[in-house]
Amino acid sequence: MVESMVTRDLFIGGKWVEPLGRARFETRNPANGEVVGSFVAGTIEDASEAVHAAHRAFKAWKETPPPTRGAILLRAAEILRKRKEAVARIVTREMGKIIAEGRGDVQESIDFIEYMAGEGRRLAGETVPSELRSKFCLTLRQPKGVVVAITPWNFPTAIPNWKIAAALIAGNSVVFKPASNTALCAASVVDVYEEAGLPAGVLNFVTGAGSVLGNALVGHPGVRAVSFTGGVETGREVYVRGAQGLKMVHLELGGKNPEIVMDDADLPLALEGALFGAFGTSGQRCTATSRLILHTKIYDEFLGRLTERVQRLKVGDPLDEGIDMGPVASRDQERKVAEYAAIGQQEGAKLVTGGTKLTGSAYDRGFFFAPTVFETRHGTRISKEEIFGPILSVLRADGYEDAVRIANDVDYGLSSSIYTRDVGRAFHAVDDLEAGITYVNAPTIGAEVQLPFGGVKNTGNGGREAGSAAIEEFTEIKTVFIDVSNRLQKAQIDAR
Ligand code: NDP
Repeated sequence: MVESMVTRDLFIGGKWVEPLGRARFETRNPANGEVVGSFVAGTIEDASEAVHAAHRAFKAWKETPPPTRGAILLRAAEILRKRKEAVARIVTREMGKIIAEGRGDVQESIDFIEYMAGEGRRLAGETVPSELRSKFCLTLRQPKGVVVAITPWNFPTAIPNWKIAAALIAGNSVVFKPASNTALCAASVVDVYEEAGLPAGVLNFVTGAGSVLGNALVGHPGVRAVSFTGGVETGREVYVRGAQGLKMVHLELGGKNPEIVMDDADLPLALEGALFGAFGTSGQRCTATSRLILHTKIYDEFLGRLTERVQRLKVGDPLDEGIDMGPVASRDQERKVAEYAAIGQQEGAKLVTGGTKLTGSAYDRGFFFAPTVFETRHGTRISKEEIFGPILSVLRADGYEDAVRIANDVDYGLSSSIYTRDVGRAFHAVDDLEAGITYVNAPTIGAEVQLPFGGVKNTGNGGREAGSAAIEEFTEIKTVFIDVSNRLQKAQIDAR
């Protein structure tokens, strides 16, 4: 089926607009090069317009009762549920993940919007006793103001919704700037909120280069908070710029996630986990398994089984239901993955399978890279740097302590996994692995929206998204003292 190219504009103050004289850019299907959408290359002025529109809308939205905000979110979830298949196809066409994962991306959006709608009836503060008589102490959650959401391309509907739905239910107004190469997915997200009846200006959408728009938004004095997901270097830049304005900057960055397989593990289960973790979404999940740490006793057997299965993975058109792995998301991604494959060979890693771009009529118009496995030693670049593609480094460990040492000796700490039948060892690993997320007998990928998501070390700056933690990201705490004693009471002085 040939699907037509779509033209989308900016969404500012409740209207779709194409400001005069703007250049446009296109997104392309990474499987075959077809043009998917055309978008406005927004300018600093557009960023500023969007922030002003968000400001104008903020007060009324803040004063809207949270359950009423929740009702709008529920409608948005319902609309998205009805068009799940259509949006999933856009995800697959624009970003390249296989259609089952495209559906998963949209389902995660639906789940999270629904979950956040419920928060409209919670948004809980606390009540705490006073040290004085006839005095009540409590806390409230209040919105921060105008918040900026900057998102990557790998979960092109789910990550935007993680930020937008949480920010909205908490009463913030939002300026959303998506990754340029998944701008149609992003516009599809905005459509859903618009149709659900979100008041004008509460959600604004600008497209264009991160280096122009992102900088302008993060530096804008009218913005109180920035929620950013992307690469470490960009994140660092955003953090520094935001810090100059003393803004709250939430960062979700990279990962170098290990799966440890112990000698007592259920090996077939661990193998399924490694395949899904390493090659799902062509390895382009921030939680992707990029290191497989095998206990020396099962090393040869496991690597043999793994290699055989990797060589049987079906790579091809991600809209085809029978395919295991699609292309990588862009030419830049393909170049980066090829560079790491070359680095692996230069630094003496043993290429077990893959290692090259795929060629032939099914692949020539897209960015297809063979699922790749290297045997390497800990300390090589491919064992320590984030690749964000279908390359798995296999490492040998002498035992549990060695496996954990290797797992922890990287700059990142997002996800981690251990396969073992020893319950005690599993709990030790939960404690010992330096990561925001640890799975036991499950792959490093597979977040659920009702749980906090984020990492330690260079993966972020301490915050968490999703779950109830998402509310913390987007609210300020107001502390309230109510004294009904009708006299001046002095804390620390009278309270004896
Ligand atoms: P980038 O950091 O290149 O881009 C992320 C976003 O930032 C895009 O919207 C981009 O816009 C924008 N941007 C670029 N430059 C600036 C700037 N100077 N100021 C503000 N915004 C800017 O990352 P990718 O999109 O390539 O995403 C891949 C990375 O994201 C990986 O490293 C991955 O680990 C990480 N990631 C982390 C997750 C997590 O939760 N920890 C989840 C998913 C991905 P534009 O597209 O226009 O350049």
